[in-house]
Amino acid sequence: MQCSSRLPLAVPLGHDGAPGPPGGTGGCPLSQATFRFYSELNDFLPIELRGVEVRYTFAQRPTIKDAIEGLGIPHVEVEVILIHGRSVDFTAHLRDGDRVSVYPMFESLDVGEVLRLRPSPLRNPRFLADAHLRKLARLLRLLGFDTLYDNRSNDRRLVEIAEAESRIILTRDRQLLKHGGVSRGYWVRSVDSMLQAREILRRFDLRERVAPFRRCTTCNGVIRPVDKADVLERIPPKTAAWLDEYFACSSCGKLYWHGTHAERLKQRVAQILASEDG
Ligand SMILES: [Zn+2]
Repeated sequence: MQCSSRLPLAVPLGHDGAPGPPGGTGGCPLSQATFRFYSELNDFLPIELRGVEVRYTFAQRPTIKDAIEGLGIPHVEVEVILIHGRSVDFTAHLRDGDRVSVYPMFESLDVGEVLRLRPSPLRNPRFLADAHLRKLARLLRLLGFDTLYDNRSNDRRLVEIAEAESRIILTRDRQLLKHGGVSRGYWVRSVDSMLQAREILRRFDLRERVAPFRRCTTCNGVIRPVDKADVLERIPPKTAAWLDEYFACSSCGKLYWHGTHAERLKQRVAQILASEDG
């Protein structure tokens, strides 16, 4: 069977100039379903398919996961799928005439009882930032969020770490999120790191959880108060003369205190949160 050689086709519903089902498929039965993607999921679609019903032509019976990824949307971006208004999971098979609604993570829904696709809610999210998101990782740590940064592991290893530690993979690489082993991931839209931090706060509804200066921006370790006497030899004498409160990273030992650098970081936190207000 060469049924799928020219499939799938996705076109806006009611688009007169759209190609119909391809001929010459050797009598292979073709089916059609209608998809509607909500909110940020449209970011992944070509412009002509955004915010409209999409007619999807297929042969055989793909799983809903394959169909959604075939349309360019990583499955990890999806929280809820409804077929004819009923919640289904990724393994459901598409049938001719199905009307499919696909919602992103944390989209507020008023559809009654729906099945969440993720194994458990991400109440205290932990992140894993890929090699290209070093600045974002530091900002998330500054805001108090547990964020690993890894620029040495290959994709497979990243996925293993994220799954083993229940971390959400943050990446600008959509292909990474299509990896079969990924159950939690987010494609970061913004390019600028400050905007990225703001985007993550908004997307994961984390504003109330911001707790600055709890994590080491260098290594992600937890910062704890330390006795001045224990670290005295590491404090510049001019600082030791006027300041008594010190903190250290429990992992790498880096020393922190309320100096001018901390003031700059405070301003940075304020900037991220202020931009959230707007
Ligand atoms: Zn550290």
